[in-house]
Amino acid sequence: MNLVRSRLFRQQFIPLFMIVAILLVMFSAIIFMRTREGIIARELQIGTSYRDAVLGSLDRWLDDRVIETERLAREIEAAAGDGQDLGTFWKRFSSMTGPGSSYIDFFLVDTTGLVVVSKAQTITRAINLSDRDYVAAGLAGRAFVSGLFQGRLSGTFAFAISQPVHVCQSYWVLAGVVSLSNLAAIVDTLDLAEIGRAILVDRSGSIVSSPEYIESYALAERDSNAYMLTGEAADRIYGDKPGATLYEDHQGETVVGAWGYVRHLGLALLVELDNQRAMAPLGELLRFMGRISIVALMAVLLTIYSLSARLIKPITALVAAVGDVKDAEFRARINMKTGTELDDLIMAFNDMASTVRDREAGLKESASRDSLTGLYNHGRIEEFLELEMRRKRRSGELLCFVMADVDHFKYVNDTYGHQAGDDALRGITGLLNKALREGDILGRYGGEEFAVILNACKETEAAAFCERIRSMVEAAEFDCDVHKLRLTISLGFVCTETEGFVPFDIVRRADRALYEAKNAGRNAVRQA
Ligand code: GH3
Ligand code: MG
Ligand code: MG
Repeated sequence: MNLVRSRLFRQQFIPLFMIVAILLVMFSAIIFMRTREGIIARELQIGTSYRDAVLGSLDRWLDDRVIETERLAREIEAAAGDGQDLGTFWKRFSSMTGPGSSYIDFFLVDTTGLVVVSKAQTITRAINLSDRDYVAAGLAGRAFVSGLFQGRLSGTFAFAISQPVHVCQSYWVLAGVVSLSNLAAIVDTLDLAEIGRAILVDRSGSIVSSPEYIESYALAERDSNAYMLTGEAADRIYGDKPGATLYEDHQGETVVGAWGYVRHLGLALLVELDNQRAMAPLGELLRFMGRISIVALMAVLLTIYSLSARLIKPITALVAAVGDVKDAEFRARINMKTGTELDDLIMAFNDMASTVRDREAGLKESASRDSLTGLYNHGRIEEFLELEMRRKRRSGELLCFVMADVDHFKYVNDTYGHQAGDDALRGITGLLNKALREGDILGRYGGEEFAVILNACKETEAAAFCERIRSMVEAAEFDCDVHKLRLTISLGFVCTETEGFVPFDIVRRADRALYEAKNAGRNAVRQA
């Protein structure tokens, strides 16, 4: 049985398979989306935490510098109060700007804005810094952290922390200069390794955190795009509001970015996390879901296949069995158990087939019998003859066939009536039946003609049989209606090979012998 060609199977299979497949795809999509959202939310959280951690340490670092410079300012005030020469402070400044320290320079500015003491031992030329905001703030008595600037003497990018120094009723200013690279180094110590990067960006959009950036940044023109933050990240950062979001970086890769601002310095900190890396488990999940889906679909396919097979096999068997019954093959039976209501149908079919077979057999039997005598009729005798000829042909034996005709039967009918005639026929039938041996086949061949296919293959046996019949009829007295009649019968028989003959030949030869018996005066037996 080809299940795939079955309509029932296809009508069950395709919709069910589609529904399961669609459900699986929807289920996978929902899990994928949910997981993706979860991962992004987590990444945003991680980015924000990193950003806050770095901004916090930058703040603390700056606060420490402010405290440091304040302490130094108080030292200078104390020294001035003691009437010390402030020019000796360059030694103290030098000790604070050595290798490994935070400052690249320290200087003291007098009330006019002129540098009076600096890390440099001598001031070779008068430098007026009164135009600098941090100097102006100090002269006005305020501590100040400047924005980023390019040092007039060193040329490096830096910012200054200034403190007012109260000397002789007016303010001088102490300024410590911190190189941008010092600040950037703090950011660089935060090694995000493969999960992402932290970037410090100035107001112009230049990236200033990494040492390599700083170098180029110092040397290159400021409007060079070489290390500019571009794209969506830049747009968002210049919005001046801290935040975190998913966007595409300058290389077109999706990243999770969290940004914020460094107090005082006008610098922005951007923490970018590699989203692709974070999303890697999602690919794993998808592959896993794919495998699960394939297994689930296979299971569904197998289930539908076996369910359909259980349903379709008995239906196909029923259709075939019904076809057999239609073709008069009444032995058709279905031996199948499905454990479903189909069993009832199979049982009902088998019962129906039995009934039809029995009826058919009954009909066939009654159709092959003569109603008056109950003997086989003309047609059935010819069927038997043909069958017997075939058997004898195989065994090579002789076939013995007898034709018998009641003598002057017309006279019986005419004289005593048809009822008497019928009774006479029944009486003769009884006699003939008695004379039969096992395997002999007796039939009513015509009106008052009988035929016998003998279960014998010897002429002598056949002759003896015929003679016995003849004498039995002659000796008998028949109850016919109200009369007691005596009758005689003539018989012709043939014992012949069957090879090369058809049934008609056999009948004709026996008939001819019967004719001879009639001609010989009746109540006689003749052999063909
Ligand atoms: P013969 O010795 O030459 O055989 O003479 P016959 O009178 O028997 O001749 P025939 O065979 O011509 O006549 C047969 C008669 O048998 C004719 C018919 O009326 C009668 N007959 C045939 N069938 C039946 C039957 O079923 N019942 C009765 N009562 N008579 C029948
Ligand atoms: Mg007759
Ligand atoms: Mg006759």
